[in-house]
Amino acid sequence: SRLPSKSALMRTDVMMVTPWLAPIVWNGAFNIDILNAQFHKRDVRIGLTLFALKKYTVFLKNFIETAEKYFMVGHKVHYYVFTDRPQDIPSLSLAEGRTLNVTEVTSYKRWQDVTMRRMQIISENCLQRFIYEVDYLVCADVDMIFSDHVGVEILSDVFAAIHPGFFQLPRQKFTHERRPESQGFIPKDEGDYYYTGCYFGGTVEEIYKVANFCHNAMMADKAKNIEALWHDESYLNRYFLYYKPTKVLSPEYVWNNYYGSSVYVPSKRFVHVEKDYVRIRSD
Ligand code: UDP
Ligand code: MN
Repeated sequence: SRLPSKSALMRTDVMMVTPWLAPIVWNGAFNIDILNAQFHKRDVRIGLTLFALKKYTVFLKNFIETAEKYFMVGHKVHYYVFTDRPQDIPSLSLAEGRTLNVTEVTSYKRWQDVTMRRMQIISENCLQRFIYEVDYLVCADVDMIFSDHVGVEILSDVFAAIHPGFFQLPRQKFTHERRPESQGFIPKDEGDYYYTGCYFGGTVEEIYKVANFCHNAMMADKAKNIEALWHDESYLNRYFLYYKPTKVLSPEYVWNNYYGSSVYVPSKRFVHVEKDYVRIRSD
């Protein structure tokens, strides 16, 4: 699966490129050795932002341990963990060239606010430190594990991942925010893909724009007592409608076993962990 295709024709069963000519990353579409050599030449530094507030600290150990095995192996990786419970962060051994930094942040009562405020924290940290410390940022949910290779093939100026529940559905079925009064509004006949809110990334400059837009949109809605249907995910989808991602990740890169399996996704590289929603989100 790591070999390049011998023919100039690649997979024909799935879309390999968006209508705005951004690559869609599928298994078999790239040669990782060529890509690794290119990114090593640039000595690229990759930051991974993770939020583990309240009971979500339980997910960190498996996340980091599987990331050590599969995520950007051989490259410089900085894990940035944001938490309200620094004493609950386990100490984990990391491979050479990889560091983990814990930053204490204040929590919010509603889980929706915890997930949405990630955008504010990401945007502030882009200016304060990420810009000095890393070249790319990957922003991920913490209730996930890696179970196969995820490497530099995902990196681009700004990338988004197709939500595993929507890649075979027509855009009318996408669960975008449809109320025009919300800053997350997307008209019924618009929307390119339904992107997941749990995984996106890009250069620090681009992620600053993404996170800053989403945070401001949420604050504008909050002032009017509106909250978009799927919280940060809705605002992110709105941003990506008007500022198209330069790379799109197939659902291999963010699977959820709730959707079973798909012949189009032979490898589930990054998978949501099952959780008891009520219990894990309670105080
Ligand atoms: N989160 C957290 N503590 C909470 C709620 C959410 O740390 O109490 C963070 C965590 O990183 C989580 C993300 O916000 O992965 C998104 O929330 P969740 O995973 O519950 O959303 P879902 O994937 O179920 O839509
Ligand atoms: Mn999640």
